[in-house]
Amino acid sequence: MSSMERIAAGLAGADGAPGALRAMRRHLGFDLAWLSELTPHRRVFRLVDAEGEQDLAVGGRGGPSAGTLCRAVATGDLPALVPDLLEFAVPLSDPIHRLPLRGLVAVPIRRPDGRLYGVFAGASIGPRPDLTARDLSIVQSFAAIAEADLAHRLERRRASSEAAARIEALLTTDAFHLVFQPIVGLRSGALIGHEALCRFDDRPEASPVKWFAEAREIDRGPELEMRVIAHALGHMADLPRGSYLSVNASPGCIAADGFEALFDTVDAQRVVLEVTDHMAVTGFDRIRPPLDALRAKGVRIAVDDAGAKLSGLHQIDRIAPEIVKLDRSLVDGIDMDRALRALVGAMVQFARESGAMLVAEGIERAEEAKTLAALGVDCGQGFQFGRPAPLQP
Ligand code: C2E
Ligand code: MG
Ligand code: MG
Repeated sequence: MSSMERIAAGLAGADGAPGALRAMRRHLGFDLAWLSELTPHRRVFRLVDAEGEQDLAVGGRGGPSAGTLCRAVATGDLPALVPDLLEFAVPLSDPIHRLPLRGLVAVPIRRPDGRLYGVFAGASIGPRPDLTARDLSIVQSFAAIAEADLAHRLERRRASSEAAARIEALLTTDAFHLVFQPIVGLRSGALIGHEALCRFDDRPEASPVKWFAEAREIDRGPELEMRVIAHALGHMADLPRGSYLSVNASPGCIAADGFEALFDTVDAQRVVLEVTDHMAVTGFDRIRPPLDALRAKGVRIAVDDAGAKLSGLHQIDRIAPEIVKLDRSLVDGIDMDRALRALVGAMVQFARESGAMLVAEGIERAEEAKTLAALGVDCGQGFQFGRPAPLQP
């Protein structure tokens, strides 16, 4: 393999900043390589890579930046390529000099806005008279990968702290409200329940999925979901007597502390809990105890979006729901689609065998409702019967 091919292979295999650092060190035969962050007064090692016996795992360690190699490179007191540090009369008190380092190639790394972040460097214990301008440009190429990786990480950190602030504000002010969508018997047309769906006040017309996902990403999903359920259950008294209220919860929320207690003070016989994202249930054992406890209180368990993305019947079977909610993708255009009718027919069979009630979601046309009723689906929900709306006072 030619030298250029080796470089290309190293670059291609460099997996973010750690990969780029290691590939650069190995490629140029350095004993030590590091990525440091420089603040006005400190130098912190963010990544360190070394070979052999030395204990050089100093990642995350920091100290004053004055007198360090990194500071000297950043200020231009030291050039980027130094075959032998002993030939430079720069006063250095860098603790990594205990090694002591002689050959050095170091390039500054910048933040996306152009401000200095730190230094990407490789060094060897002996002098390196062999180092050339070409070696410097190789280090610069690897440093560019590390810089791109840094930009990506900084952006992720910024986005997640903005998300944290948004969710914090939302939870402090309870800036959401609930809308309720009727669920009816497909043969009788009688109202049997309502599903509570959340709307966030800053964009009430938008689906709430984005907010729940954002809260989940910063580990506050269960808290937000539980807050919404508490509000929804607070509306029980406003719903027609004899009808039920359906609330949504993801597996992460069901397994969270305090979940069961939400249902302590309500008429559990009138509550249905819809398990959303049930395909994501990997640790089914985590949600079984709270589901069993709620069942014992009288809460009925529903599996939401059954049939979505060919969701597995096995998974549904493990939850043993009292209600199976057929996903809209099985309902849309069913009157004109033989394959959908066959799939729903199978679901009807499955539900009958497991003693579960079937509710079809997203019914928009009378023909869909008629077809579903003829196939044996018990209940329906969708714009055909009523859009999600605030309760009338
Ligand atoms: P989901 O529980 O399956 O809710 C049904 C979704 O279908 C709702 O969307 C509803 O507005 C929409 N829908 C109802 N009828 C029709 C119809 O005829 N046609 C069409 N195209 N859509 C219809 P929404 O409110 O945007 O909610 C989306 C998902 O967000 C919900 O799916 C649920 O997984 C989640 N979600 C909504 N509110 C809550 C909540 O309060 N807590 C939790 N944990 N999740 C919620
Ligand atoms: Mg639902
Ligand atoms: Mg659904």
